[in-house]
Amino acid sequence: MPEIRQNIATKEWVIIATERAKRPEDFTAEQRTPTHLRPPHVATCPFCPGNEAMTPPPSLVRIGADGSWQQRIVPNKFGALSPAAPAVRLEEGVARMTGGYGFHDVLIESPLHNTTTALLAPEEVAATLSALRDRARELARDERIAQIIPFKNHGESAGTSLEHPHCQMVSLPIVPSHIRQRLEEAMRYFDEHGTCVFCDMARLESEAAIRVVCEDEHFVAFIPYAAFSPFHTWILPRRHRSLFTQASDEELASLGNILKTTLLKLYRGLGDPHYNYMIRMAPLAYEKVHWSHWYLSIVPKVTRAAGFELGSGMYINTALPEESAAFLRAVTT
Ligand SMILES: [Zn+2]
Ligand SMILES: [Zn+2]
Repeated sequence: MPEIRQNIATKEWVIIATERAKRPEDFTAEQRTPTHLRPPHVATCPFCPGNEAMTPPPSLVRIGADGSWQQRIVPNKFGALSPAAPAVRLEEGVARMTGGYGFHDVLIESPLHNTTTALLAPEEVAATLSALRDRARELARDERIAQIIPFKNHGESAGTSLEHPHCQMVSLPIVPSHIRQRLEEAMRYFDEHGTCVFCDMARLESEAAIRVVCEDEHFVAFIPYAAFSPFHTWILPRRHRSLFTQASDEELASLGNILKTTLLKLYRGLGDPHYNYMIRMAPLAYEKVHWSHWYLSIVPKVTRAAGFELGSGMYINTALPEESAAFLRAVTT
């Protein structure tokens, strides 16, 4: 029988359609060239070494032991926002707007074209995360920036046309209403229980262990009880902090390993599926709150949202979270 489950942190409902439930391996990606079978260097790729002039000047460059760059952060050439836009606000009738002030960064994760986060060494993934954190810390000093959203689009159905491994970060002058709604739910939980709902979830999921994908002393990666799509995974830090910018070097070293392991399980288990990952955090002004907690969310693009999802804001998940987690636990890395 179908179940309608609710996520205790976001209060969002999902239909777990057990009648339509597919076996985990049914979500395996269609035949296409997996990342590791592509050429290591592409002459026309703007992110490959030798083509640095094809991107705007970098705001951060990490150099490796051999003297060449390992990670670069550059402004997105076709950025959604611009630091040149005025930070003004206008209101007239139904027209309410603010200037498109902000930053849209691209982080090139590796000099190699034919790799992806799942295939990088844990230290390389940790270096990507620390470059993102350091850039986010720099941007957080800009008082006009209210909210920072780091994310990765892997593959065309996840919204990217560039093969070269990269992630992005958008820094906004406003707080999106979706983020504000989730904040309000987390605050309400804190008012009722006196604890952070994400701290509670990390502990409860780790104890129950049935939805855990992998974990260590700093992070627990699990498929939430009310995951809204197949293999949707959360990686929660055990230490309470509301902002990703507050993550320590030790935590990011650990996250490099947990993120790589989770993505490699997806890569091997489902055949390099397209996915998005997002680092969710509170607005910058909420640095010290006890009720909001940063985390990383991975959404493999193995199904498509359609009319029901658009019409209701809720999802139908055709995979049982407990089965998906057991499937991923069994994939060797
Ligand atoms: Zn490339
Ligand atoms: Zn917490």
